[in-house]
Amino acid sequence: MPIRQLSAETINRIAAGEVIERPASVVKELVENAIDADALDIEIVVAGGGLSLIRVADDGSGMSPPDLLLSVERHATSKLSEEDLFDIRSLGFRGEALASVGSIAHLEITSKLRGAAAGYSLSVVRGAKQDMKPAAINGGTAICVRDLFSATPARLKFMKSERAEVMAITDTVRRLAMAHPRIGFMLQTGEKKPLHFAREADSAAGLLSRLGAIMGRAFMDDALEISGLGDGGSGRRPMRVFGYAGLPTLHRPDASLQFLFVNGRPVRDRVLIGAVKAAYGDLIPRGRSPLLALFVDVEPGDVDVNVHPTKAEVRFRDGGAVRALLVGALRQALAAAGHRASALGGTLTIETFEANVLPQTWSGVPRPNFNMPKGFGEAMQAPFDSLDAPSAQMSAGANTATDGDLNFPLGAVRAQVHENYIVAQTRDGLVIVDQHAAHERIVYEKLKTALASGRVATQGLLIPAIISLDADDAQSLIAKADELAELGLVIEGFGDGAVAVRETPALLGDTDIDGLVRDLAAEITREGSARALKDRLEAVASRMACHGSVRSGRRLTVNEMNALLRAMEATPYSGQCNHGRPTYVALKLADIERLFGRR
Ligand code: ADP
Ligand code: MG
Repeated sequence: MPIRQLSAETINRIAAGEVIERPASVVKELVENAIDADALDIEIVVAGGGLSLIRVADDGSGMSPPDLLLSVERHATSKLSEEDLFDIRSLGFRGEALASVGSIAHLEITSKLRGAAAGYSLSVVRGAKQDMKPAAINGGTAICVRDLFSATPARLKFMKSERAEVMAITDTVRRLAMAHPRIGFMLQTGEKKPLHFAREADSAAGLLSRLGAIMGRAFMDDALEISGLGDGGSGRRPMRVFGYAGLPTLHRPDASLQFLFVNGRPVRDRVLIGAVKAAYGDLIPRGRSPLLALFVDVEPGDVDVNVHPTKAEVRFRDGGAVRALLVGALRQALAAAGHRASALGGTLTIETFEANVLPQTWSGVPRPNFNMPKGFGEAMQAPFDSLDAPSAQMSAGANTATDGDLNFPLGAVRAQVHENYIVAQTRDGLVIVDQHAAHERIVYEKLKTALASGRVATQGLLIPAIISLDADDAQSLIAKADELAELGLVIEGFGDGAVAVRETPALLGDTDIDGLVRDLAAEITREGSARALKDRLEAVASRMACHGSVRSGRRLTVNEMNALLRAMEATPYSGQCNHGRPTYVALKLADIERLFGRR
């Protein structure tokens, strides 16, 4: 076949194939156009999963008749400056969407330029532009797309169920709504009741309210405000990140409630996803994902948004700087949250009672809101060290806590029950601590600090502990002896299939050496020797912490228990154990009173 120039119609259909993958892509393009037109309210109606009808109406700037005629032409846009292709401040810029949609469906645009006397309407039927006519419209722009893909039946065959398309459309609208809380959204899909997001104030509170409407109450209650400023890579130009991120105790099996935006655009981006993973790292269980909505704003010149047909991916000029900004801001907020655990624990506890006895009118639990007193960390460590000494009997005087003690965030110890749970009284309620989980976190954080500063104190054993393992495990452990020594565990071979332990990390105290060594050996054998132990420091430290922690089943003295609470208050991330479970739950007095019908 000789080469020939493709017709404009064919070119448009090919382009449409890239931009318009499914009905949700049309919704995305039309809603983005409405946002770019400074709309304050956007109304979306779809029927038949968007294949029979998509209608998007806005109260934005509208278009003049000449602009309306141009808007459906390919490569016609009001948003791109040909002087600086990288200065993109709008969601659209390629001038392709309306032309693409017009080539594969029945497109009708009705629009009135703000301040103009009359509105006009223009139709494009599967690539053929019709005559423009005067039309009645109050203001803004309304765009109707009917019989999507009727010009490309092959595409139709790829459509999933109507339900699946409605879900994709809903997801698209939700994401755009998160990034633009100032704008009101209404989505009607024929299914169930319409989705409605009221216009919110242009503030952090407005954003949180919009996020709560989309991500749920639990997120709102457990979300930390994130905010950070950085250098965008070009030296002078600033960038910033803001948004909300859930406490580590709030996690899900998938990343479906992780929303990331760059310059108001929902994106899937490796740099951002990697940064989130790194920041939460050892705070949540493996394979689980935190909930968050983060907005990164960079100078338009510091990000390339033109690397993906639907702009779902971006490329940063300096990905490392963006990553550092994100990890820093997240870590800072998580560390500041300190021992604050998810409110979920207490809420669930109350709900257990509520289900049985409470009247319908009962309402939710206020979340704990601790202001951590500063500077009582180190002084309180001394009695805590005695946790590693042999256990003592519960002493008398557990009820003599002074008022001062009650002012500590985690309060004053009243009792230990079932040899693992510490019950403490706070100013306005009570706290139940899982002593093993809490101690494990504290030891782990100390280990990490020691490792980071390169000074892991060890304690020598008077008599080396000889531990016999299977030959492979002993081998792989001995091969790592140098690295283990840096981590404070000094071992050497002891004949066939055994090792002698000479020193252990002092932090672990009187630890279960046998269990620790077996666990480490099994882990090293399983993971192979490819990665250095220090890279797996988190796993190793976590393992060590687990063996060095007060076991459940151990009686503690009141002093030991109070010391544990004070240490928790002074330790970052102590609201959850290394496995992501909460280390304590808090119940408010008001809620306890409700349980007994006193309120
Ligand atoms: P792009 O958004 O990349 O510019 P589109 O094909 O989506 O390309 O739109 C073409 C042009 O039509 C836009 O640049 C804008 O000027 C105009 N336009 C589209 N939708 C609207 C709308 N809802 N309100 C006002 N103008 C619009
Ligand atoms: Mg557009």
